[in-house]
Amino acid sequence: MPEQAYQRGLMWLRNDLRIADNTALYRAGKACNAVAAIYIACPQTWASHGDGDRVVAMRLRSLRQLQVALAKKHIPLFFLELAEFTDVPAALAQIVEKLQVGALFANAEYPVNELHRDQAVRRRLKQLGVPVEYATDRTLIPPGSLTTGSGGGFKVFTPFKRAFIARHDNSGDAFAPLPSLRTRHPDCAEVWPEWIAVAGSNNLVRTIPETVGDYGVAPGGHNRVLDWPVGEAAGTRALKAFAELVDDYDRWRDFPAQKNTSRLSPYLNCGAVSVRQCVAMAVAENGGRWAGPSEGATTWLSELLWREFYQHLVVNFPRVCRNKPFKPETENVPWSNREEDFERWCEGKTGVPIVDAAMRQLNQTGWMHNRLRMVVASFLTKNLLTDWRKGERYFMQQLVDADFAANNGGWQWAASTGTDAAPYFRVFNPYSQSRRFDPEGAFIRRYLPELASLPSKEIHCPAVQPASGQSPSGDLFSPVDYPAPICDVTDSRKRAIEVFASLKS
Ligand SMILES: Cc1cc2nc3c(=O)[nH]c(=O)nc-3n(C[C@H](O)[C@H](O)[C@H](O)COP(=O)(O)OP(=O)(O)OC[C@H]3O[C@@H](n4cnc5c(N)ncnc54)[C@H](O)[C@@H]3O)c2cc1C
Repeated sequence: MPEQAYQRGLMWLRNDLRIADNTALYRAGKACNAVAAIYIACPQTWASHGDGDRVVAMRLRSLRQLQVALAKKHIPLFFLELAEFTDVPAALAQIVEKLQVGALFANAEYPVNELHRDQAVRRRLKQLGVPVEYATDRTLIPPGSLTTGSGGGFKVFTPFKRAFIARHDNSGDAFAPLPSLRTRHPDCAEVWPEWIAVAGSNNLVRTIPETVGDYGVAPGGHNRVLDWPVGEAAGTRALKAFAELVDDYDRWRDFPAQKNTSRLSPYLNCGAVSVRQCVAMAVAENGGRWAGPSEGATTWLSELLWREFYQHLVVNFPRVCRNKPFKPETENVPWSNREEDFERWCEGKTGVPIVDAAMRQLNQTGWMHNRLRMVVASFLTKNLLTDWRKGERYFMQQLVDADFAANNGGWQWAASTGTDAAPYFRVFNPYSQSRRFDPEGAFIRRYLPELASLPSKEIHCPAVQPASGQSPSGDLFSPVDYPAPICDVTDSRKRAIEVFASLKS
């Protein structure tokens, strides 16, 4: 698009809530004289996607900070609440007409409903002669653009990663963040009204609400989202802080008691930080390379490629967006789906300390360490033989970093219904994981205060302690208010393997 091609342009913000290195915003700034931004909340669609209070609060609060920062660039931010994605094309058509907008800019999103929404918007605005430009920004390269030798999408992570790195000659140069967005002349802010009426919905306004739809108003709604400082500045600070730790990432990333991972996922998900900014930090530590001298940076870059891989997967294999397993044969797993098991898992009352501590971390903070996400997902789907979709949905509702692609990918990986080589007979033993990655029980103690007094040796698998304070042999010990394990991990592992093996035959 030529520079200053339009008098007025509209930037449609979604999960890209930042100014720096925002591709669509940058292009809007180049192509238009006056730029306004819009955010459209669709709480009914969000609820149908399973989005929870925390992730929505993260969006709304980040948006408020972004509004202030954009105003300093003389770019007003408008807000509109609609019920569903399907309401968006008609509303945007009215808005671009009333605001006399020459072009609409947005960063592409990839799950099926988002793609359909965006195609419908493009068709509708085309009728008005208003072009819509969707940019690649959430991913490093456009999903679908990296293919196997036979032209299909990659189904396994390692070959995907190898092909990605080879395509870029092991260099991070292609992903340098964009130059800063130019501040517009103050007069450019004057051309926009304070609000406009939009038929069939609320008005388009400049106030970002605390709550939308039923979000944030339900009794018992979470307020612990404040554990996460929100906004672009907070995301940038977190990235800078992690740059000091990245060298050691490979050594410590699996130990949940320590804060050795970046904890950038909530910022990457709402877009307060861009994936290119993350890559730029890590390749700089790594001598400009993807795979290079720093083991820590190389391993972390590989995690960013897991993120990329799952984003590509939803485009290459959209059936995963339709509640379907990636491996069709696993549709027939005879899940036991015992409601009581699921409830105890959700509440962190399974009697398996590492699982319970992890679930309480999730319930209390909205975040869970990656190693523990794998452990609890394996425990639910294999040991408790509960449909992965129940766990996937619970995570979506609780996580402050809830992201469809990463969450669905992670759950299907753990349940052996998904991509990659996680063979069905690999079932995490929660007790060995606990002894290996939380050797002193520091993480367990933090989230299960009822076990805090136990010695490190016992904390991973405490002897069942009857309320009377007497063991079955009659010895006295202080009673601990903690349930007996929900299942025998050896027997339940065997059962899961038999079930999956029978699908094969
Ligand atoms: C069952 C399950 C569910 C998950 N659900 C989500 C989710 O809803 N949202 C989410 O962002 N991540 C999810 N993950 C991936 C991973 O657990 C988190 O991204 C990670 O724990 C976030 O912590 P961090 O930012 O400190 O990660 P770091 O270790 O610092 O990694 C940096 C970034 O790389 C990306 N990343 C790292 N590991 C993975 C991975 N395995 N898959 C995809 N991306 C990855 C994330 O964007 C992360 O922020 C899930 C994993 C599992 C096993």
